[in-house]
Amino acid sequence: MAKRDYYDVLGVSKSATADEIKKAYRKLSKKYHPDINKEEGADEKFKEISEAYEVLSDENKRAQYDQYGHVDPNQGFGGGAGGFGGGFSSAGGFSGFEDIFDTFFGGGGGRQRDPNAPRQGNDLQYTMQLKFKEAVFGTETEIEIPREENCETCHGSGAKPGTHPEKCSHCDGKGSINVEQNTPFGRVVNKQTCPYCHGTGKEIKEKCPTCHGSGRVTKKKKIKLKVPAGVNDGQQMRVAGEGEAGINGGPNGDLFVVFVIAPDDFYEREGDDIFVEVPLTFVQAALGDEIDVPTVHGKVRLKIPAGTQTGTTFRLRGKGVPHLRGSGTGDQHVAVKIIVPKKLDDKQKEILREFAGATGSKVDEQNAGFFDKMKKAFKGE
Ligand SMILES: [Zn+2]
Ligand SMILES: [Zn+2]
Repeated sequence: MAKRDYYDVLGVSKSATADEIKKAYRKLSKKYHPDINKEEGADEKFKEISEAYEVLSDENKRAQYDQYGHVDPNQGFGGGAGGFGGGFSSAGGFSGFEDIFDTFFGGGGGRQRDPNAPRQGNDLQYTMQLKFKEAVFGTETEIEIPREENCETCHGSGAKPGTHPEKCSHCDGKGSINVEQNTPFGRVVNKQTCPYCHGTGKEIKEKCPTCHGSGRVTKKKKIKLKVPAGVNDGQQMRVAGEGEAGINGGPNGDLFVVFVIAPDDFYEREGDDIFVEVPLTFVQAALGDEIDVPTVHGKVRLKIPAGTQTGTTFRLRGKGVPHLRGSGTGDQHVAVKIIVPKKLDDKQKEILREFAGATGSKVDEQNAGFFDKMKKAFKGE
């Protein structure tokens, strides 16, 4: 099913201010919070609201959403480039959300955050090694990541199936206890998180045998990934919702896949262009030739004009790396390197001497300027 527009979900306009978004979110999340609203579908609605707020309350994520729209979990690069973020700032973070819950679910407005409030699961990072050509052409692969998920046996409650968590008898379900202290100024009452239930207000008498009461299990999850053509070393792809499971009905975290690309023996990459060096004999360079040059797209015939100098670069258009964003492909640059033979037989030497005699060991006019400068240098001018 297609996702609804985040602005529609929160019922705000595209130009809404951060404050308006926050207000709309407060109103809606209060209405649909699973602890308050027991109607069918409220849970889903709450998740949708949380997700919308998570994106729209974050300046960077909002800008990205405005530009690229939803990021499909199976197509991290949705709409061409959606999934590519710059930094990693959101890893593990989801402030804002907790702050807001503190204000209406929190116990007494203290710093103490409500342990029963929905929270987004942690983001995860996965480093993926790619071969040179896999990065150029993209690849489909399956990865396995260990991640925390809600326990299926107890559906995250931590209680043995058939039983339910009960009200904590130490704090009477409030999650906090009052501690009286005698000080030189008299008796002071401090509110503290209940050490028995750690603030949840719940007590699990019979623990779930699978998760031992935590409600969470670490599982190896297989995720199919489609790496698009053109990714470069160090770039990352965001796979929305494939991080750790949300807590108390909060949204899942995201998975960030960072690419590390193995160098190639022959090809060198700079952006979307590929650079190679090919050897030419002195004769090929002098007389001209046609040679086959390897490219990642297959062999390409390259015409070497007569009189080609070492270091000359030829450009093979469109034989580089496909652009990740938009269409088109980079080029391949072919630098020629003229190899001087090390071993010559007598006959070859004889021919070269004849050649030298014919040209009088003179360089041609193209290079005359260079030799003039060298002569001046010898004279100390
Ligand atoms: Zn369990
Ligand atoms: Zn307690």
